[in-house]
Amino acid sequence: MTEEKLLSERHRFKEDYMPYQLSSLQQNARRLFLDYVHKKNQYISIKKCPYCGDDSFTKISEVERRGLPSEIVICNSCDGCFKAKILNSQMNAYHYEKISYSLRGKEISEDIIKKLFENRVKSFAYPRYHFITHFIDLIPGRDTVVELGCNDGANLLPWFKNNFKVAGYDLDPRMVTFGRKKGLNLIHGDLIEFQSSRLKAKLIILSHVLEHVSDVNTMLQGLVETLQSDGYVFIEVPGLIFQGVRNSLSYFDVEHNYYFDMNSLTLLLKKHGFKIIYADQYIRIICTPEQNVSIPAGKGSPVSFRGMKAGLMKLLIEIMNFKSGKNYDLLKKGESNNVRTSVLKKLQSLYFVYFYSSIVKHMEKNEGRK
Ligand SMILES: [Zn+2]
Repeated sequence: MTEEKLLSERHRFKEDYMPYQLSSLQQNARRLFLDYVHKKNQYISIKKCPYCGDDSFTKISEVERRGLPSEIVICNSCDGCFKAKILNSQMNAYHYEKISYSLRGKEISEDIIKKLFENRVKSFAYPRYHFITHFIDLIPGRDTVVELGCNDGANLLPWFKNNFKVAGYDLDPRMVTFGRKKGLNLIHGDLIEFQSSRLKAKLIILSHVLEHVSDVNTMLQGLVETLQSDGYVFIEVPGLIFQGVRNSLSYFDVEHNYYFDMNSLTLLLKKHGFKIIYADQYIRIICTPEQNVSIPAGKGSPVSFRGMKAGLMKLLIEIMNFKSGKNYDLLKKGESNNVRTSVLKKLQSLYFVYFYSSIVKHMEKNEGRK
């Protein structure tokens, strides 16, 4: 049973309505999606909540950031947010092959791929590597790091350069070919190919992948089977509380089947036998199988000016009591641009910038000393 309580009239689907301006490349891709996918009703309806199994939902939006139809619901029982109509597997493959790049406004040439790779390595991969190694101790030369949905493999480069064994899986053959030229061990495939490799990972990275999968429960079960019993999973996804509340319409994306908040995702991980080492609303999570007893002692934010600023932001956010409340109410509040909401949005952004960079800089400094 689904009741309708759209966040605003802007959240209603109309064929010619686009909330934000699109380039002509994007408009053509949108048209292709409407004609080829939407009008032929190539969807699978999700009848049970993927988080808790209940079947009573509230529909909060019919549309996503590019004006494509996207039926987004919140479970009335567990408050988890997800897409209630997902693409069938044939259309999913078609979408990623023919529509996705253009829809995101990307033109793909060898030169652009090369530039994106270099930028990703510097701006994202090294900071992420330093963040993860702050929380868990891995051993170069021995441990294997696997990334599912690795794209061009940029995330794996710091691990590779630091002498870890790496394996990356991606469904885009162009990206796999590109990453291999960088010396990375990339494989054309996904979880299924990883499972059949019989490789056991010490660390599995899922960076902006979990929100795209068709069935999150199958994915998490697959991780349990392919991870060493003393291994770790690092997950990064765009969090509903952090990004959704800032602007729900720009947060909703036709390619995202799940809109996780920290609560919904950590509960799901616990259901699959993981315990949480680190989690925030950004969302970044580090978890390990429950039976792993060799967990490193809890590491907080290192003492530094950035760390202190992060602590201050966190305190202010707590004083303003932003985190409490149901997801629907938070998203609804985010729609109104009152001063309190704007201040909180700003504080949250600053908190994550300071917190993340305090850890990254601290680890970079440590590395410099070695
Ligand atoms: Zn539920």
